[in-house]
Amino acid sequence: MELTNENALQFILAGKAQFTVTNISTQNRYTYKVNRCDTNNNLYFVSVLYNYKSTNKEYSDEQQFKYIGTIRKDTNTEQIQFIYGNKSILKQDSIQVKGFTYIIKHLITKDLPDVYFITHTGKCGRCGRRLTDEKSILTGLGSECRKIIGL
Ligand SMILES: [Zn+2]
Repeated sequence: MELTNENALQFILAGKAQFTVTNISTQNRYTYKVNRCDTNNNLYFVSVLYNYKSTNKEYSDEQQFKYIGTIRKDTNTEQIQFIYGNKSILKQDSIQVKGFTYIIKHLITKDLPDVYFITHTGKCGRCGRRLTDEKSILTGLGSECRKIIGL
């Protein structure tokens, strides 16, 4: 369920977005979550699905979403910026953080190279409910949520 570059930023900032970014040339793929702060509409928390070695031998490797930073929207200029979180367990020069910084930057400037594919998981980026009709699947947003956002 691929998002176009035009739809992607809208989807990412809808409030409860989960998506995978694939680079078809390197075959790297990472899944991110961008959740809007409950008390501040211009603040979003970004996390990435992270593999780590389980300390319990009975379990194999596990995956968990780990915080990497915030997206802030300037209230006056509407400008969007991703800011690395110093408390993140992932380093600022990790591929997950560098990749996300790159994607956001180029979605804003509308020149994301064609090797990147952004796909949603079939759930609405605003409310998390399963998407059913064609337009919802195309945009990553359900019809109710599209109305609320004003699309
Ligand atoms: Zn929705």
